[in-house]
Amino acid sequence: MKKARLAVGYGSICGGCDVAFTDVGTELVDLAELVDIVYWPAVVDGKIEQLKKISDIDIGIYFGAVRTEHHELVLRLLDEKSKILVAFGTCPCYGGIPALGNVETSDSLLQTAYSEAPNTTNDGIPGLRKLKRQTMEVPRLKAFISAPSDLVNFDVFVPGCPPPVQSVSKLIDLIRDYSAGDPIPEMHFIAEETSVCDFCKREKPEVISIDRIMRIHEVEFNEDECFLSQGILCMGPVTRAGCGEEPRCIQKNMPCRGCFGPLPKVRDQGTKFLSSIASSIVLGKEKNMSDEDLQHLVKKQVLDPVGQFYRFALAVAAFNRRYTGD
Ligand code: SF4
Ligand code: SF4
Ligand code: SF4
Repeated sequence: MKKARLAVGYGSICGGCDVAFTDVGTELVDLAELVDIVYWPAVVDGKIEQLKKISDIDIGIYFGAVRTEHHELVLRLLDEKSKILVAFGTCPCYGGIPALGNVETSDSLLQTAYSEAPNTTNDGIPGLRKLKRQTMEVPRLKAFISAPSDLVNFDVFVPGCPPPVQSVSKLIDLIRDYSAGDPIPEMHFIAEETSVCDFCKREKPEVISIDRIMRIHEVEFNEDECFLSQGILCMGPVTRAGCGEEPRCIQKNMPCRGCFGPLPKVRDQGTKFLSSIASSIVLGKEKNMSDEDLQHLVKKQVLDPVGQFYRFALAVAAFNRRYTGD
């Protein structure tokens, strides 16, 4: 069997997706037998000039979101040269955690990080740097962060922040099938088609009524009962399943934060969640409450609405800054 040529490129990343790959342990040996790694900065030398020279890539995998012009260049090169393009992690699928930066302008982010933060002694915003032999330019931030899926067409999506070990195994299986000549289904998601709630084993009442929204440390909760029914916000109803037979966070006694992104056909994860819990809030008592009372209740009890509802998918939210074409 001919080895597939594999290239991995980075956007704005935290490094967790590289670590997720190593989690498959000895399956990495299988991967090494299936592919020739032609580009992967964490594994082999990975300078952009080298990627420009590579002519033929079978599988291109992109980690991260697009924050700088350099990130976009890597993405475009991988797109142009790869037969199969894979979005690995929630960042390339939906913008992920880096996209929370879109609540600020790039100028104000730089200002805060390099000039105003009390714990930094940097001498201003980085730009041109004169080194011994050459002048180097720090890649410029784009005006806002984009989800790579808004910029190019991916063939395979592997959501998760980071994707769990079973998703990496499935991706390796897919590479094996591809190497054997099997076609890869179009727009293939390595995830389920249903919600996290469908896999959650906690007891769910027929009707959920939330009197007060609470944070997890504010309540002694029942470990066998649905978080939402106890007033703790859980994104399970609007989040795509795939993080395990028993969802990864739920089994560790944490509500789902939504890292697998929206359910299929749901355009905006946060709005969908708001509409799904709106009917549960003060159920039966809403007639005695004005719109202002309801707004006040949510405002006072959800301290970080963007982080709560759009932690992983702000870059593709209906109302936020978003790439809409050249
Ligand atoms: S998907 Fe999560 S783990 Fe992967 S690079 Fe983005 S933030 Fe890091
Ligand atoms: S809302 Fe959360 S805790 Fe409740 S059933 Fe869904 S995933 Fe489980
Ligand atoms: S439970 Fe939710 S946040 Fe946790 S890993 Fe699964 S999809 Fe991601």
